[in-house]
Amino acid sequence: MTVLVNPATEETIDEVPLASLDEADAAIARAQAAFRTWRDVAPGDRARLLRRFADAVDADLEHLARLEVANSGHTIGNARWEAGNVRDVLHYYAAAPERLSGRQIPVAGGLDVTFHEPLGVVGVIVPWNFPMPIAGWGFAPALAAGNTVVLKPAELTPLTALRLAVLAREAGLPEDVFQVVPGEGAVVGHRFVTHPAVRKVVFTGSTTVGKQIMAGCADQVKRVTLELGGKSANIVFADADLPRAAATAPYGVFDNAGQDCCARSRILVQRKVYDRFMELLEPAVKGVVVGDPGADGTEMGPLISAQHKDKVSSYVVDAPIAFQGSAPDGPGFWFPPTVVTPRSMTDPLVTDEIFGPVVAVVPFDDEADAIRLANDTEYGLSGSIWTSDVGRALRVARAVEAGNLSVNSHSSVRYWTPFGGFKQSGLGRELGPDAVAAFTEVKNVFISTEV
Ligand code: NAD
Repeated sequence: MTVLVNPATEETIDEVPLASLDEADAAIARAQAAFRTWRDVAPGDRARLLRRFADAVDADLEHLARLEVANSGHTIGNARWEAGNVRDVLHYYAAAPERLSGRQIPVAGGLDVTFHEPLGVVGVIVPWNFPMPIAGWGFAPALAAGNTVVLKPAELTPLTALRLAVLAREAGLPEDVFQVVPGEGAVVGHRFVTHPAVRKVVFTGSTTVGKQIMAGCADQVKRVTLELGGKSANIVFADADLPRAAATAPYGVFDNAGQDCCARSRILVQRKVYDRFMELLEPAVKGVVVGDPGADGTEMGPLISAQHKDKVSSYVVDAPIAFQGSAPDGPGFWFPPTVVTPRSMTDPLVTDEIFGPVVAVVPFDDEADAIRLANDTEYGLSGSIWTSDVGRALRVARAVEAGNLSVNSHSSVRYWTPFGGFKQSGLGRELGPDAVAAFTEVKNVFISTEV
């Protein structure tokens, strides 16, 4: 049993049983049985069921959002966006079953055709920071391709995933096609890795656990997609619209209280405008509205847990703090938006994914220096480039080793464009037009016409 606590109030909100190994095995066996019929559901019928699932999410949007506010401390505005993202991803991939066509390849003496075959049971392992969207990015394309799904939410945040499973059944998805199995990572998540009937693992979480998942999957040459950590750069050139870059920088890193794999937690600023940028950044940071996540207008809520707050706090003890925003007094796991100015590039404030509302500002000299600093990390997930020179924007975007870059913007995710990391930020891509194919095997069939 896991006891769930509202991170904004520290009140107990629910208790959820954790599945045992036997229960995980039973869920996988049911998913395996359900695959035999789900894979053969006519494409149009599969598409219709996914659209009905999307409509059920839409009808339940406010309820899902409020559940996430209580369970995860997300602001109500973000939580509504997150539930809407699940709806939109389901609609987007509902178009796939009827379009998942193979190819006809010219050969002599017959006909050669390819098919996209579903894999079977797909295991989706979700972290606590974005419980709804990350679940949807895994299950929607997997189901569209004809797979069945077992999904393990994070121990701290299972409520919206459990609700999504109820909505899927109410929308008419056949039993056991989409199951949510709350449990511990080392028990249920690990079983997805070791169980031979699970043909692919989609893991989103820390790079440390991601490496264990990848090593475990190697044993069965199991397909794996990894979406891992980040330490992304927000690069501000002297020719940028500085007021806009400074005004939006807090939203590029403090969104979801910095518990965001795409957080631009290193701001690299061209030295000649460094002082001016800091002058502009200070009021923007101090203006972030931190407080009751359920209130409209709140921009930042609490951290997920007391333990995580301790971890984030440990980074800023004795840190060179430039300035901080506000945070309510307890109860709740509050931490103020914090700007630090580390003196060395080896400082953990610059190298580590803190996963809280802490951003390091570092000066650079020229374009080459900016690219060098941006790439001086084991991660490569996202980043921003602020400049009014379109040539520079493209040169830098091509040179930065990261999967998702934005120019004069801090946005990272559009469900119809690919998302994923370079280097130790991950393996494979989610979202976008190619995600469904990643849940299939290509089969080639040659039919002889010889007599
Ligand atoms: P985590 O790695 O601790 O846990 C993630 C999930 O894996 C949880 O469900 C957990 O129960 C499970 N797990 C833990 N140990 C396991 C094991 N041995 N085998 C199988 N499953 C196991 O990560 P977290 O603290 O929940 O999430 C924060 C991390 O997730 C950050 O590093 C963040 O950057 C990353 N993240 C990445 C993306 C992305 O798309 N790249 C998105 C969101 C979060």
